[in-house]
Amino acid sequence: MTRMCIGIDLGGTFTKFALLDEQMRLAGQCQLDTPAAQGPEGVVGVMAEGCRQLMQENNVSPAQVVGVGIGSPGPLDLDAGVVIAMPNIPGFDHFPLRDRLSGKLGLPATLENDANAAALGEHLCGSGRSARVMVLLTLGTGLGGGIVIDGKVLHGAHSMGAEIGHMIVAPEGELCGCGQRGCIERYASAAFLALRARRAVESGRESSLAGVLAAKGQIDSRDVNQARQAGDALAAEIWDQACYYLGIACVSLARLLDPDVILLGGGLAKAGEDLLEPTRRHFIRQHWQLTPPRTRLELASLGNDAGVIGAAGQAWSVLGKR
Ligand SMILES: [Zn+2]
Repeated sequence: MTRMCIGIDLGGTFTKFALLDEQMRLAGQCQLDTPAAQGPEGVVGVMAEGCRQLMQENNVSPAQVVGVGIGSPGPLDLDAGVVIAMPNIPGFDHFPLRDRLSGKLGLPATLENDANAAALGEHLCGSGRSARVMVLLTLGTGLGGGIVIDGKVLHGAHSMGAEIGHMIVAPEGELCGCGQRGCIERYASAAFLALRARRAVESGRESSLAGVLAAKGQIDSRDVNQARQAGDALAAEIWDQACYYLGIACVSLARLLDPDVILLGGGLAKAGEDLLEPTRRHFIRQHWQLTPPRTRLELASLGNDAGVIGAAGQAWSVLGKR
């Protein structure tokens, strides 16, 4: 009988499900809408429904399933399996998500932070394979991160480890939603790169992005890259600034962890080499001189599937040895 773990990636719009066998091979996937308006009980109901659907579609019996791993936005109390609060879905106030789903399915469950789960996913099945120490930076609306050391996710002493987006790279810099100033998230996430471009345009800087803003009412990170490719000086400056700050963060991560690889993922990383090349350049330029840079900077490879694969991987890691 092939043993399986189920991974769940809880998002504000969609909930994803995946089956992972013991060799960490993907054996099936499905996706359902997240009933955000129905609160935590509705969300647990859809999670259970998705697990049943996944098992049925792939001819897997509940007896074959070792456990279910949930990847969730936070903050979380990982030891207790509790969601302390959830930014995109109202009603999660110290909600015991892990035990509630486990009870509903009659299967053991684990709870993991979604950014950590994505890092584990890249380690198991993506660009981080064979790395002893790896870091994933997810550059999207915010800047999420995860650290995997010797196959294990770094959680820290209070479930708050690897909050890489809130490493300070600019003393007394921009105020972050977390209350600190100068967090890397405010300089190198897709959303804030776009915001910085918009602010520059609105302050009167000359740029083709003014036309984009007038036509669409907004500027996104892709617009900035397109304008940069077309020779727009302001777009090039804003893009390079984000890569400069990413380079600083990567040097600090290299000093702290000496990783094999730092992976760049999320919406901004869809720019591929356009992001990687200048970030590598800034990383090398700011790197110490004592030894040559050995940490590689690469693109993540699993895209939006990293979280659900990692959630299943976490279930294997926690529940697989029982
Ligand atoms: Zn912050």
